[in-house]
Amino acid sequence: PKESLVDMIDAAVRTYRASVALEFFGETTTYAEMGEQISRIANALRKLGVRAGDRVALVLPNCPQHIVAFYAVLRLGAVAVEHNPLYTPSELRHQFEDHGASVAIVWDKVHDTVIDFPEDMGVKHVVAVDLTRAMPLLKRIALRLPIKKARESRAALTAQPRAKNALRWEDLLETRKLKKSYPRPMPSDTAVLQYTSGTTGAPKGAILSHANLRVNALQGEAWVPGLRRGEEVVYAVLPMFHAYGLTLCLTFAMGMGARLVLFPKFDEGLVLDAVRSSPPTFLPAVPPIYERLSKAAAKRGVSLGSIRFAISGAMNLPLSTVEAWEKSTGGQLVEGYGMTETSPVAAGNPFGPARRAGTVGVPFPSTQIRVVDPDNPHIDRGVNEAGELLLRGPQVFSGYWNRPEESLAVLLPAADGGGPWLRTGDIVSVSGDGFITIVDRMKELIITGGFNVAPSEVEDALISHESVADAAVVGLPAASGGEIVTAAVVLERGATLDVEALREYCRGRLSAYKVPKQIVAVDELPRSMIGKVLRRQVRAQLSAPQ
Ligand code: ATP
Ligand code: MG
Repeated sequence: PKESLVDMIDAAVRTYRASVALEFFGETTTYAEMGEQISRIANALRKLGVRAGDRVALVLPNCPQHIVAFYAVLRLGAVAVEHNPLYTPSELRHQFEDHGASVAIVWDKVHDTVIDFPEDMGVKHVVAVDLTRAMPLLKRIALRLPIKKARESRAALTAQPRAKNALRWEDLLETRKLKKSYPRPMPSDTAVLQYTSGTTGAPKGAILSHANLRVNALQGEAWVPGLRRGEEVVYAVLPMFHAYGLTLCLTFAMGMGARLVLFPKFDEGLVLDAVRSSPPTFLPAVPPIYERLSKAAAKRGVSLGSIRFAISGAMNLPLSTVEAWEKSTGGQLVEGYGMTETSPVAAGNPFGPARRAGTVGVPFPSTQIRVVDPDNPHIDRGVNEAGELLLRGPQVFSGYWNRPEESLAVLLPAADGGGPWLRTGDIVSVSGDGFITIVDRMKELIITGGFNVAPSEVEDALISHESVADAAVVGLPAASGGEIVTAAVVLERGATLDVEALREYCRGRLSAYKVPKQIVAVDELPRSMIGKVLRRQVRAQLSAPQ
């Protein structure tokens, strides 16, 4: 595209001036007001010394300030770095050491953490965003998150006195607007450092350009039929610090002049409360959210029939979730596929009768795919043959920040002189008419007696049993070499674990070697912030001596 994300937001502000851009706990901001705030914050950041190419850290849940800050940073040609706002001090510190931002815009809860970072880390200015109104709710929700149990003592991390400049968002908003003539970023400039989910290892900062992200929003517009520019109501329940929420909510929704209803964290009660006053038309989310939302809507008798587009991605979507959602809402739930490295969407199912549940659909426009031998990516696999997925297209990133070896390892130079092929690390098969089925991650396939078992296939079989609410399947080392298929299951309320009955049920659905040898009941599964099951943590828990 010839446009940067700044050109895109400026055009939206001009076109949709008086329409509501943002809604947060009932308070609204129009496109014109948002444009004014972006310009003021951009100028304030410029006065703090932010220049083109500098990184600015955003540590914010979904809130209006998050969107304004994002575009203000981009307006200066600087790079927005997104962070999980519920990260522990040491997790945050690791990311800050990686990207080296000098200015951080943060919500009150992590303000003291960032202020106390050692001086040599280079953070000079910390801008606090007061989210008092959302705070009680955020606290309540944060407490429910299983992964945040480890409370660290801040004192242990900080020895040096504070010498940073502590600022308030409201004060920055007092600044005059940035001059229109101030140099604008080019499409090829870096817009965002977007960290991967950290499912298979430490999160890696993917370098995404304006063009990468703009093109993915345009590909999204081409994907969704009958979008009404300036009229859609998009619910932002996904965090914008993850690539999925960033593109669907921040760039796609804003670019088409939607009303974006912001939720600092997914909570079915909050979402259902908002439905009456602002009926959603477009919902990007993940399977656990669809599960919880359709149950809660049925229980409270709230209709979700206004949703014309429900999109699932980021993880395997069980058929039972699709059925439950479509039965309770009357609408379609369509699955897509992508990764942080592809800005993030690379494939999607067509909407309407051509949708093929169980697949992630077909490649996005201008996106090429290959399926290859994972051990030798120069050998292509045939139709319906499983292999590693390679991707090429304008949304593919240029590499990881500070990680040259890992960048080289995933970007294969093309023999035809075109752009590099991205190794996805995902095993897939592709049908004769181009529909992609995800088998599983290469790293998580279980090897038992020479056969490969895809954990997600076994998980789907387990979850389809009435007593099982959730499941994670991993390979534990066998004494004889190889791995033992082992399942951790969360039982439905009131159900008891009957290992033999469950295995018998699986035998009716899976080949014998895929049936879990061991099944253990657990209270909950460790999940990443966007809701992915962290199988490596499950494996560690199950292999620890009891
Ligand atoms: P990390 O790269 O840090 O280990 P991650 O791969 O989970 O973490 P993301 O970029 O958020 O980080 O996720 C991309 C991955 O998510 C894909 O490579 C794929 O394994 C998985 N994924 C995405 N969409 C789907 C889908 N529809 N079905 C199954 N898996 C999916
Ligand atoms: Mg990954």
